[in-house]
Amino acid sequence: MINRRKFILSSVFSSAAVLAGKLAASQSAPRNLKGNPLVISTWDAGLSANRAAWEILGKGGRALDAVEKGVMDTESSINCCVGLGANPDRDGFVTLDASIMDEFANCGSVAFLERIKHPVSVARRVMEKTPHVMLVGSGAQQFAIAEGFPLEEQKLSESAQKAYTEWLKTSEYKPVINIENKGHGPSAPSQFENGEWNHDTIGMVAMDTNGNLSGSCTTSGMGFKMRGRLGDSPIIGAGLFVDNEIGACTATGQGEDVIRVAGSHTVVELMRQGLSPEAACKSAINRIIRIKGDKAKSIQVAFLALNKKGQVGAYAIQKGFSYAIRTNAGEKLIPAKSFYS
Ligand code: ASP
Repeated sequence: MINRRKFILSSVFSSAAVLAGKLAASQSAPRNLKGNPLVISTWDAGLSANRAAWEILGKGGRALDAVEKGVMDTESSINCCVGLGANPDRDGFVTLDASIMDEFANCGSVAFLERIKHPVSVARRVMEKTPHVMLVGSGAQQFAIAEGFPLEEQKLSESAQKAYTEWLKTSEYKPVINIENKGHGPSAPSQFENGEWNHDTIGMVAMDTNGNLSGSCTTSGMGFKMRGRLGDSPIIGAGLFVDNEIGACTATGQGEDVIRVAGSHTVVELMRQGLSPEAACKSAINRIIRIKGDKAKSIQVAFLALNKKGQVGAYAIQKGFSYAIRTNAGEKLIPAKSFYS
């Protein structure tokens, strides 16, 4: 029987927490696995991002800090299509989306944010300093400036400028998606190294030494998208979802189709039903394929997930998606299985 006084106290605590809009970081979270931190993130750039995350995880730090620091590495990279040098929208502006979520189901996101170098950190401030989950456009930018983030100049990378100039010749509305045509896996040529990077997103999920989970996702969205378009990355439950009792998932690829199936949330719910991370990702991908029919042949979506036991898995529509993993045992780039081979 539940002790009535305890019950009332915990109800009062929960209501107060809900009223405050946030759960305190000091509140203890369920802990199932201790001592084996790990981090996974999307695409080849994940290797470098994981190293940044490991600086925190490897010292026993919190997963939330690790996933912020990890993807900031990618946001800072001049040659990568995530930060300010990324592919612009069809009007020539780089617009950025990001989200972050911690072990207490606290979450924050920004979307359609311009001229701010680290959208993921602004998303974290939204989570920690406002009663809201999501800020967009000029409001998100004003909030970032008020929080001390400098307003930067947009500076397209050489490859983004070249691609945009090329695109302007026809201005055909065909947003670029994450289909990699050059093979995959550790032996395949890295698009990043070749300066031909066309992946517009990094998603990262991690488990810390306390067994707590967090995730982050940051993107410039599809290259040459319509002005104002948002994808899945800033939408909690689509591009990112964390449930500290079950697991965490992030997505990359055609955001519209991730949103359609509430992708990352779906994967976590499938893991709740007992599926392994890979089987859960596969099931969510199959759902998209059923919806899209033949059109699935020309899109890419990939999910990457981690469960509370520290098992990881991924699945994609197209061949070519790989993810990076870092554990106490070292780091690795792993090619994901896919529906089309
Ligand atoms: N999912 C991102 C979006 O649709 C794009 C990507 O993953 O490259 O905005």
